[in-house]
Amino acid sequence: MKGFDVVIIGGGTAGICAAARIKRSSPKLSVTIIEPSGNHFYQPAFTFIAAGLMNPQHIARPMSDVIPEGCAWIRDTVSVIDAEQNQIHLSGGEKILYKALIVAPGLSVDFESIAGLPDALNDRRHPVCSIYDTTNLKKFSELFSQFIGGTVVFSMPSGPLKCPSASLKIMILADDLLRKAGVREVTRMIYVTPYSSLFAVEGFSQTMTEVVRKRGIDVLFEHEIAKIDLRNQTLHVAPSTEAAAQRNIKTIKYDLAHVTPRMKAPQMIAESNLHHQDGYFQNWMNVDPQTLQHQKFINIFAAGDVAGLPTMKTATGARAQAEVVAENICFLFKKGAQAPLPRKYDGYTCCPLITEIGRIIHPELGYEGKLLSKIPLNPFVPRKSLWVYNTSLLPKLYWNFMLKGLL
Ligand SMILES: Cc1cc2nc3c(=O)[nH]c(=O)nc-3n(C[C@H](O)[C@H](O)[C@H](O)COP(=O)(O)OP(=O)(O)OC[C@H]3O[C@@H](n4cnc5c(N)ncnc54)[C@H](O)[C@@H]3O)c2cc1C
Repeated sequence: MKGFDVVIIGGGTAGICAAARIKRSSPKLSVTIIEPSGNHFYQPAFTFIAAGLMNPQHIARPMSDVIPEGCAWIRDTVSVIDAEQNQIHLSGGEKILYKALIVAPGLSVDFESIAGLPDALNDRRHPVCSIYDTTNLKKFSELFSQFIGGTVVFSMPSGPLKCPSASLKIMILADDLLRKAGVREVTRMIYVTPYSSLFAVEGFSQTMTEVVRKRGIDVLFEHEIAKIDLRNQTLHVAPSTEAAAQRNIKTIKYDLAHVTPRMKAPQMIAESNLHHQDGYFQNWMNVDPQTLQHQKFINIFAAGDVAGLPTMKTATGARAQAEVVAENICFLFKKGAQAPLPRKYDGYTCCPLITEIGRIIHPELGYEGKLLSKIPLNPFVPRKSLWVYNTSLLPKLYWNFMLKGLL
């Protein structure tokens, strides 16, 4: 049976960043990444590419180009982790031994959580799209560029999800695109959210409430899409609170809809018994929120979307977690398990909010919504510089520095 010092499950943002940092800091450690996909995706670009505002070349690179030098790549899928035996089982039948394991397989977008959604997305002519489906980005562009007016619905689901601001971001971009096309005056826009505010942290929520009000977008708070009736082009919504149930809103007719489905932890985590047993993070990886070490197995860590952590799931967060995990693992190899782990994650994440084409706000937050702004400017003010940063500079930093463990 093959064995390695460090095995990393997933060659996404967290997995590649962690691998690069471990190799830089401890070159003698053997590091293997297990990843089935032939391409690595820079997902923050999805929103801009769907809206036709970013060059599609930013979106993907061959996996072989991003696997850090000196690391091995096994092109397979992990089916289960046997933590008691320090081994993982691959779907191809092989077993791999590890001394330390980083679990970074991201999350699963649960398209089935909304009845009718898979059929609506797969039907090229049906006016429902989602930027959470890589194969649907072109459909978004086509539907919005051909739209001639009517009711457009955008939605956000409940539960943990990656880039929780993505549904708001794409809606603001769509609003501007419809204005440019001259059809906004004959369009009603509705945003459906299970929550009672537009963002989890008050100051940012206030800014977005004002943006949405000025744009004349209606918000249906405390409701979630449960079902799509394709034939009648109707969304069935469910209330998320008692108060909302009293309003008795059951359906919305749509001419065009952008739907964000619920998301869930990869099934393999619960099957491997490494998950939170209950609560909001049920089935997500159960790691210490600071060291990112598994609560039971000291040689297992998690980074990225898979971790059950009370912070927003973003690439920025995944990068920061990878840094902490890499340093703690290298320390374990050098000093053994007795000494306390040196690096602590403060929950740092950044989930950009777009207020118009050309301006962005950066909610840089830590645990409990603590402001952790790296830029010494008022974080609630939309800025042109942050638009340039997100659309031009950040993709270059991502491919050339972050994935190489240099940033
Ligand atoms: C539309 C959209 C907009 C976004 N916008 C932003 C943004 O503006 N800013 C931001 O910071 N973040 C944004 N994000 C979120 C960000 O992309 C993710 O949070 C980030 O990619 C998480 O990194 P990860 O490594 O945990 O998962 P991923 O990058 O998704 O990688 C997981 C990898 O694991 C592999 N894998 C899965 N299962 C297995 C298995 N069983 N065995 C082996 N390998 C497996 C997958 O193939 C994949 O390559 C956005 C995401 C989307 C979809």
